[in-house]
Amino acid sequence: MSQMKIYLDGAWVSKDKAKLSVFDHGVLYGDGVFEGIRAYHGHVFRLKEHLQRLKRSADQISLKMPLSVAELDRLVNLTLKKNNLRDGYIRLLLTRGVGDLGLDPRKCAHPSVVIIADKLALFPAECYEKGLSVIIAKTVRNLPQAINPTIKSMNYLNNILAKIEANRAAVPEALMLNNEGYVAECTGDNVFLIKGKSIVTPPVSAGALEGITRAAVMKMVKAAGVYSITEKLFKPSALFQCDEIFFTGTAAEIIPVTRIDNRRVGSGRAGAVTKRLIEDFKAVVRREAALIGAK
Ligand code: PMP
Repeated sequence: MSQMKIYLDGAWVSKDKAKLSVFDHGVLYGDGVFEGIRAYHGHVFRLKEHLQRLKRSADQISLKMPLSVAELDRLVNLTLKKNNLRDGYIRLLLTRGVGDLGLDPRKCAHPSVVIIADKLALFPAECYEKGLSVIIAKTVRNLPQAINPTIKSMNYLNNILAKIEANRAAVPEALMLNNEGYVAECTGDNVFLIKGKSIVTPPVSAGALEGITRAAVMKMVKAAGVYSITEKLFKPSALFQCDEIFFTGTAAEIIPVTRIDNRRVGSGRAGAVTKRLIEDFKAVVRREAALIGAK
């Protein structure tokens, strides 16, 4: 296999050479932002949306993007090409850059840009058939007034604490509640409930990331016109009073959830509506790749 080539501040370097300074505030403080992006059939899915979100995240931490969105678009595509990947996962990092041991971001003159393209580790295929078993974490999602979950920041400790709870319970994901007890999202995915002809997901203000997959699913469902889809606050009790639950994320795509805290969700099996959405989403991805064309 040929060596992986990672973009690092203006050059493509091999995996063993792709290193950030220990004085980078991304390393010292988790001071930076990132994106997880997907390529299908030689086309980067919703790249503009990802780069716009990166820009919004950077703005929220007063980090000036060292490259334009157009330039980042070109570099993401070039990184895929250099790694001969038509299907893969892209990790784009924007760190505060090298400073001193103090917190002050003004000491960091040059943000670092890293782009990694690799194959992706998904949930095992059987999870898409059987559905996930998950828990509700005791760790509360970050308060929007403290660290806004709309910032896709390099500090994921809040999510990692919930992930550790999931690990202890031997399940692959955990739902997180906000400080008012409303369901916010998962450690790395957004959440949706289906009841009858209505689909709901928590509003971003509940403490969720504005997921690109979430937005794609909302648009797709609205366009089909069969189910209503709305943003609404709900408490954990709603999780056990609905027909189906699914999670969305760039890596997970759409995945059914069939058990929460060892209690059955709906029938306890992956629901028909979720399965249909999984197929519809694949069709959207194929159509966009065919329409826009591989670069
Ligand atoms: N919430 C969190 C906390 C995430 O980290 C992610 C993605 N990694 C998502 C939701 C899903 O967002 P997207 O569909 O843009 O991948």
